[in-house]
Amino acid sequence: MDDMERAQERALFDTGLAVQRQVGRLRTGGPRLIDRVSGAVLCRACEEPIPVDRLKAQPGCDQCAPCARLEEQQQMALRGGRRGWR
Ligand SMILES: [Zn+2]
Repeated sequence: MDDMERAQERALFDTGLAVQRQVGRLRTGGPRLIDRVSGAVLCRACEEPIPVDRLKAQPGCDQCAPCARLEEQQQMALRGGRRGWR
């Protein structure tokens, strides 16, 4: 029985990791993705290399410009939506 429970927990854990990877764009902080070959910083949303110019302009950024803009718009929409409920 214990083995069964462990297996179920393990399955849940794996699923959680997969989901986390899919919704990675919504998670902030944590280590940035680095391309092992080129050493470039990768966008945490689309996993494309972030242009060096953008990294120079915003050293802490972990998203490319289009994804950052998209997330900003989504967050603004969320905030606006919440305000609208009051
Ligand atoms: Zn991106």
